[in-house]
Amino acid sequence: MQKVMNMADHKVVCWECGTEVSDPYANLCPKCKGLLTVKMDLTQAKSMNPEDLRKTPLGVWRYAPFMPVDEKNKVSIQEGGTPLYSTKALGEAVGVPDTFVKFEGLNPTGSFKDRGMTMGVSHAKELGAKVVGCASTGNTSASLAAYASKAGMQCAVFLPSGKVAMGKLAQALFFGAKVLSVDGNFDDALALARKMHDERKIYLLNSINPYRPEGQKSVLFEIIDQLNYEVPDRIILPVGNAANIWAVYKACTELKEVGWIDRIPKLTGIQAAGAAPVAQAFAEGTRDFIAEPNPETVATAIRIGNPISGKKALHAIYDTKGYCTTVTDEQIIEAQLLLGRKEGVCVEPASAASVAGLKKLREEGIIEKDEKVVCICTGNGLKDPDTILNNVPKPIPCKNEVADVERILKEQ
Ligand SMILES: *Cc1c(COP(=O)(O)O)cnc(C)c1O
Ligand SMILES: [Zn+2]
Repeated sequence: MQKVMNMADHKVVCWECGTEVSDPYANLCPKCKGLLTVKMDLTQAKSMNPEDLRKTPLGVWRYAPFMPVDEKNKVSIQEGGTPLYSTKALGEAVGVPDTFVKFEGLNPTGSFKDRGMTMGVSHAKELGAKVVGCASTGNTSASLAAYASKAGMQCAVFLPSGKVAMGKLAQALFFGAKVLSVDGNFDDALALARKMHDERKIYLLNSINPYRPEGQKSVLFEIIDQLNYEVPDRIILPVGNAANIWAVYKACTELKEVGWIDRIPKLTGIQAAGAAPVAQAFAEGTRDFIAEPNPETVATAIRIGNPISGKKALHAIYDTKGYCTTVTDEQIIEAQLLLGRKEGVCVEPASAASVAGLKKLREEGIIEKDEKVVCICTGNGLKDPDTILNNVPKPIPCKNEVADVERILKEQ
């Protein structure tokens, strides 16, 4: 195994007890089994200003001074650099005119997972790993498979047998991952993946990996950059395993630490009503959550009952005076269509949860009319065409004549 080149500029530490962790294959604290996190040395960033970064294109690697991987090892397919749309029409429809949408569906594989995978796979390359893996049925496996291709590594995707919609796996299969249908349920598949990782036969890039959120911080850096360092009042995003809200929080604290912003937006997490352990804990005011044994929602990317980073999410929400709530599947589908019809943006159901949450929290008076709000829309609608087709009208039969077309165009 190669020596890690740049351990000087960051440390992996236990988020719970602070122990420094040196084993690069550790996924939890060896002392207390707590979650790990990366502690960055921001000395270089402190000597710079935002303008210095603008010499490189908008994207994850513009923010290299905030990243724990040496750029010369980067495995990149130009992730990030996604648009921040000013969405006035949507904002007026929900009663918060100063609303923006950060459209993460325009990443290389169609979701924000690419921001984390460029970092995770680059780090795997630093470690000299030849095989990477994950247990996932969705965007994580699609993204990892793409970055493994780019890196020339083998990729193993662990799935429970039988219970998988093959459509979602099309990307992973397409990029040439070995997709393993493992006897048992999802937990059994994950356990096998972890065993392979512990024996150092693969480098595991599931949500628990501490390097992925480091890349995911870039969505916040880009939002602030695109707003010319005017800090929005609130950022709303869907919460599944909760690594992304943690990443956004960490990015806020780091920008404040280097003095590029002087306040932090209220981080507002949205969960689906049928998969809402973090929202439940927030409603009760606790700092830990109780797992939901049977999570269910149309928003498959956030159909998570036992979120790995749930405690970190609660910390992020409380520390920023943010909020957490649930939306129903009906509200998700309604918001998904609204975004399409008002703004020409097509997101997957999990992503529409942020817009549904904006609408609900405005109605409840939690969000003020004059707030500047950014909704992070995490993934592309084309990932899940079945859900779209279930909720839009069928094509209309039409005679081959002008009058019939006119008749149809006049119909409501
Ligand atoms: C992974 C994912 C989420 C959930 O992110 P977490 O970090 O697990 O909270 C939301 N939306 C999409 C499209 C995703 O792929
Ligand atoms: Zn610990």
